[in-house]
Amino acid sequence: MIPTFTLPLAMNDLLSMVHSRITRAMATKTYDVIVVGSGASGGWVAKELTEKGVEVLMLEAGPPRVPTRDFTEHIWPYQLKYRGFGNQKKLLVDQPVQRLCYACDDYSHQFFVNDHEHPYTFPADKPFMWIRGRQVGGKTFCWARVSYRYSDFEFKAASRDGYGQDWPITYKELEPYYERVENYIGISGSYEGLPQLPDSRFLPPMRLSCGELVAKEIVEKKFGWKLIVDRSANLTVPVNGRPACHYCDQCQRGCFTASYFNSPSVTLPAAARTGRLHLVSDAVVSHVIMTAEGKAAGVAYIDRSTKAAREVRGKIIVLAASALESTRILLNSRSPRFPNGVGNSQSVLGHYLMDHTTLEQGGGTMAPLRSAVREPVGRPCGYIIPKYVNTVGPYRNKNFLRGYYFAGDGRQEVYGHAFSTPGFGREFRDKVRSQIPYSFNVYAQGECLPRHDNYVTLDPEKKDAWGIPALHIHASYGENEHAMAKAMRDHLGEIMDALKLEDRTPPRDELNIFGKNIHECGTARMGNDANTSVVNAYNQVHDVKNVFVTDGACFVTQGCSEPTLTIMAISARAADYIAEQFRKGEL
Ligand SMILES: Cc1cc2nc3c(=O)[nH]c(=O)nc-3n(C[C@H](O)[C@H](O)[C@H](O)COP(=O)(O)OP(=O)(O)OC[C@H]3O[C@@H](n4cnc5c(N)ncnc54)[C@H](O)[C@@H]3O)c2cc1C
Ligand code: SF4
Repeated sequence: MIPTFTLPLAMNDLLSMVHSRITRAMATKTYDVIVVGSGASGGWVAKELTEKGVEVLMLEAGPPRVPTRDFTEHIWPYQLKYRGFGNQKKLLVDQPVQRLCYACDDYSHQFFVNDHEHPYTFPADKPFMWIRGRQVGGKTFCWARVSYRYSDFEFKAASRDGYGQDWPITYKELEPYYERVENYIGISGSYEGLPQLPDSRFLPPMRLSCGELVAKEIVEKKFGWKLIVDRSANLTVPVNGRPACHYCDQCQRGCFTASYFNSPSVTLPAAARTGRLHLVSDAVVSHVIMTAEGKAAGVAYIDRSTKAAREVRGKIIVLAASALESTRILLNSRSPRFPNGVGNSQSVLGHYLMDHTTLEQGGGTMAPLRSAVREPVGRPCGYIIPKYVNTVGPYRNKNFLRGYYFAGDGRQEVYGHAFSTPGFGREFRDKVRSQIPYSFNVYAQGECLPRHDNYVTLDPEKKDAWGIPALHIHASYGENEHAMAKAMRDHLGEIMDALKLEDRTPPRDELNIFGKNIHECGTARMGNDANTSVVNAYNQVHDVKNVFVTDGACFVTQGCSEPTLTIMAISARAADYIAEQFRKGEL
């Protein structure tokens, strides 16, 4: 029988108030704040501002997702026309780039853009993979939920090793906002007291698997590196009315019980409940409207369906459209006063693009764990060996700056084993069940240095389906990333040796394509100096006081950890500042 579900309660509140078209009254009103984008960043800005009494108009380029239509976490392959393999011809035609993302498949392609509608260009020798989710909630429906705080090893990296710039904020300044975000959305994890990976306010951790426990003992004893369970935005206990995870392990397909963080189930309903959030979907923002005096007066957008051009007015504009999309809007906001776009008077806008490097696919099987006894399944996380090089402790490598972590998971490999086992009938079934192999995977993720020559500009010719100039993305990994990859590869091999893995797959020789990690950050970086940065320590554009950029565009460095928890903390902090300045009449 096909199970039936009701909508997550909080999303019900939200869906009932989304406008797919702006009303005449909305078009003539001047809002306190216009927020562009409804993902991780926009959700936090809207929640914090509306709860502080500020009226917010949120414009979102994509449509709302309806759980009963779009969520598929409890769908079985036999319920799908292509049995989970997807309509490859259609995917190849509509989503030739998106389909390369591991999370974009038969069940979840609806959360990813159509590549023809959303083109971008890059030099032939610098391929870039741009994965996007355009809908109310952005990429938070399909993200992997890995959530780590940054530390002063990231915020003050330049002071330690002399490369690049420090952030204008410290860990201590951001700490209360990390706590605020974590207490509200719920992050599970274990307290470890590591200076390079500060503990969050955790919900109880998920458990390491059997193979990971074996690996923990060996890795910690032999190398002195910690091996701990992932820190993840999945609820291991109920939080704020959201039930705990029931471990179906298909989070990239949506979640009927709202047990992992996504903005339409968590932050946006909180904003909606204040009565001060007005959310217009299908509104593709093209540029910020500027006055002759150099202040922002509102934004222009194109209706996604009718392609009609519209304008809305606001006293303050917050761009939270994701790192590269916010920068695209700024670059496209050209006026006589700002001929190169808003925030670009010093030609810094668009530069210092980063995305983590990865060395993928190392692994093998743990022969002693081959067994007929099934291990519990469904845990939506893995393990991590936190950064150990060029931080605290004895490991230093002078061949490169900064560092990397190892991660992966260990689990029984029933289905892969069944596919590769020859035979049929009872004998086949007995063989599959009696000798379940245990696989252990490990990959490395490293820091990408912020370089001026990794940048985006507007493509002079190419436009998207709404006539907005597309981005030209010019990015590649440099000497530092390649030197780091060598160290990653060496140590990854040593880990596989120490674990005595069999049937090994060595890690790939080459680094991933730039962008494939989907942690793109930078291009409108923060700083105290208006000559070398785009926004100040509160995400306010130096050149235009009433424009803010709150997403990952503001990142100065990226460390080797996932960015979204930090994006949310920074967004909450910026919202506090905006509310305070607005109250004082300073903006
Ligand atoms: C498969 C996958 C796995 C990931 N795993 C992790 C992970 O484990 N940990 C982690 O930290 N991060 C992860 N990420 C990255 C994470 O999703 C992003 O860092 C995060 O969503 C960024 O938040 P954001 O609000 O800046 O952007 P988004 O969540 O993308 O939201 C931006 C919103 O702005 C809208 N928008 C864009 N342009 C316009 C426009 N012109 N007008 C109006 N609206 C616009 C978009 O439609 C979207 O809704 C993953 C991403 C993917 C896809
Ligand atoms: S594993 Fe948990 S959080 Fe993920 S979809 Fe299933 S119930 Fe939701």
